Amino acid sequence: MKRLGTAIILSGPSGVGKSTVCSFLFKKYAELKFSVSCTTRAPRPGEVDGVAYHFLTIDDFKRRIDAGDFLEWAEVHGNYYGTLKQEVKPRVINGQDIILDIDVQGMRLVRKSVLAEPEWGPSVISVFLAPPSFAALEQRLRGRGTETEESIQKRLGNAAKELAAWREYDYIVVNDVAEQAANRLDAILTAAHARTATCLEAPWLA
Ligand code: ADP
Ligand code: 5GP
Repeated sequence: MKRLGTAIILSGPSGVGKSTVCSFLFKKYAELKFSVSCTTRAPRPGEVDGVAYHFLTIDDFKRRIDAGDFLEWAEVHGNYYGTLKQEVKPRVINGQDIILDIDVQGMRLVRKSVLAEPEWGPSVISVFLAPPSFAALEQRLRGRGTETEESIQKRLGNAAKELAAWREYDYIVVNDVAEQAANRLDAILTAAHARTATCLEAPWLA
């Protein structure tokens, strides 16, 4: 049946396990993709340009803002991050699903801008990924071993603010055991596929 794809906004504090949980779904659904954001932060070891992010200089990022290339952009932890329009709209109109790993500011901006776009607005749902406790979050962030102490402090300070915004989301998933959290996200995606708002045809009427 012809339908719009689903754009899942997945937010949660840095280190909560967004990439880990999504990796289970990417294994299960070959066609499911992350929206590749642009960022001005430096790549972490192992992060490939164009896969984890499009890594841009501040000047290039500003040029893309001026060109109107972003669906949303925000400053997070002292760096710029932005979602390219081309990563989302053409895909969902084509019936493909996409996950946007963006922060709370980004969720608010996407919601606002897609509300004005009836053509594909109904494709967007939002999920907040929460840690079982704040202590577990700190442990994961430190355990990942990718951040300096300064960056960890910045991310934990930001985490407290992000966690307070959980009620603004359609769904909440607690990432206690990663595979179980992935199963819950999978169930949300399955339910999203059954929403009437994204159906583009009604063969049962023919
Ligand atoms: P994010 O993408 O939200 O920044 P990551 O997926 O990079 O977070 O996870 C941060 C760290 O926490 C990684 O070292 C990862 O292996 C670990 N992690 C993720 N989910 C869990 C979990 N459910 N239990 C324990 N550790 C986890
Ligand atoms: P990290 O540096 O750990 O990859 O990401 C830091 C934060 O930036 C995370 O909360 C992540 O969700 C957010 N983020 C990543 N890409 C984007 C984006 O395109 N837009 C916004 N608003 N936030 C983003």
